[in-house]
Amino acid sequence: LQSVVIAGAGHAGVQVALSLRQEGYAGRIALVNDEPWLPYQRPPLSKAFLLGKISATAMQFRPEEFYTEQRIELLADRGMAIDRQNRRLVLASGAALDYDHLVLATGAHNRPLSVPGAGLSGVFGIKTRADADAVAPLLKMARRVVVIGAGFIGLEFAAVAAAEGAAVEVLELGERPMARAISPQMSEVFRNAHESWGVHFNFRSAVSEIEGDNGRAVAVITADGRRLPADLVVYGIGVVPNVTLALEAGLNIDNGIKVSASLLTSDPNISALGDVAAFPCLQNGSQLTRLESVQNACDQGKLIAARLVGKPAPYTALPWFWTDQGSLKLQIAGLALCADNHVVLGDPAAGQVSVLCFRGEQLLAVESCCRAGDHMAARKILSRPPALTPAVAAAPGFDLKEWEV
Ligand code: FAD
Repeated sequence: LQSVVIAGAGHAGVQVALSLRQEGYAGRIALVNDEPWLPYQRPPLSKAFLLGKISATAMQFRPEEFYTEQRIELLADRGMAIDRQNRRLVLASGAALDYDHLVLATGAHNRPLSVPGAGLSGVFGIKTRADADAVAPLLKMARRVVVIGAGFIGLEFAAVAAAEGAAVEVLELGERPMARAISPQMSEVFRNAHESWGVHFNFRSAVSEIEGDNGRAVAVITADGRRLPADLVVYGIGVVPNVTLALEAGLNIDNGIKVSASLLTSDPNISALGDVAAFPCLQNGSQLTRLESVQNACDQGKLIAARLVGKPAPYTALPWFWTDQGSLKLQIAGLALCADNHVVLGDPAAGQVSVLCFRGEQLLAVESCCRAGDHMAARKILSRPPALTPAVAAAPGFDLKEWEV
């Protein structure tokens, strides 16, 4: 292998490059970065960065010299087309990169808010440093903030806005905070905490329009006709994987770029990982799953680098995740998508609590709020090889030999 080209310089792309060097790969690494900054971490964008607690420089993974020293060519460009026949990535600048192996680490973009007024100034999603740079000064002045979506990013932002002294309204279609990702018991802990910080929730509430004045958002109108005045509107209603490059190249797509257990696409010379990749997830009954987390991007990056230097393995890493909201830190180990039984440990009223999520007799996940010790223990317990269940064995594409590893 003489040339690895990586499209996308987020958590996943940078990890592949770093791990390739750590694994002793000596060939060419070209890392295509389509954002105008050195590669940076995304999690602080909706929390510490907005509060001025971390600088833009501190968010960078590595200083510029590091890439030079490691012979990682950081190219300010964008992948536009894959010529699979000739193994070449064509760039927006018109240049092209020849590859022996191509890695697609193109991430995801915010699901757009598709209501009248969504394009007014003062309406933001938070995905990139550019978004956070634009929101930060407005947040300092905002007195009334409306957050659309009570998922992780919406609620991280709601906590920040409340801490900055704004009156915060959260609109959410569902019935409780972070409903798609956490247990009802943990939702309750976060609902109570946000309310104690002054955040007001509107559940079962859809947005029908954003009202403007001279091109600026001034209020959010709900489907049931309420008008919530706003100086600043932030939405977080999910993300859409950046699959265009892969799709146009004819790779298999299924809610993301479809990859095997070893993270190969339908072309053996192309891998995909991170937010853009749908992989057979052991902890989700080997169903194709797309995870949006730093852990997933990094662990998948390490796995691809190891495979490229001749150490292949299926991806079985335990998913884990965290979110910081106000004084609360939630850490989740495992995936609780189909839990049907919960056991609560600790003191929910004090915001120090762990929820153990079971399906039948099997522990699927542990959600810990301000109980870091529980989270670390849960990661160990859940990393032990899971028993082979009928659901996993019956999943399409199940391979007993991969299970053996
Ligand atoms: P990304 O980091 O999105 O990187 C993809 C990169 O590819 C981008 O720079 C994109 O511009 C670029 N790109 C796209 N198309 C092309 C192309 N054709 N050519 C070249 N480049 C291209 N996770 C957690 O675990 N904990 C958290 O607390 C947390 N907080 C978050 C807060 C925010 C505001 C956001 C947005 C995300 C957060 N996440 C968090 C999720 C986490 O950041 C993502 O899961 C992670 O960034 C995924 O890494 P990635 O490299 O797959 O994608």
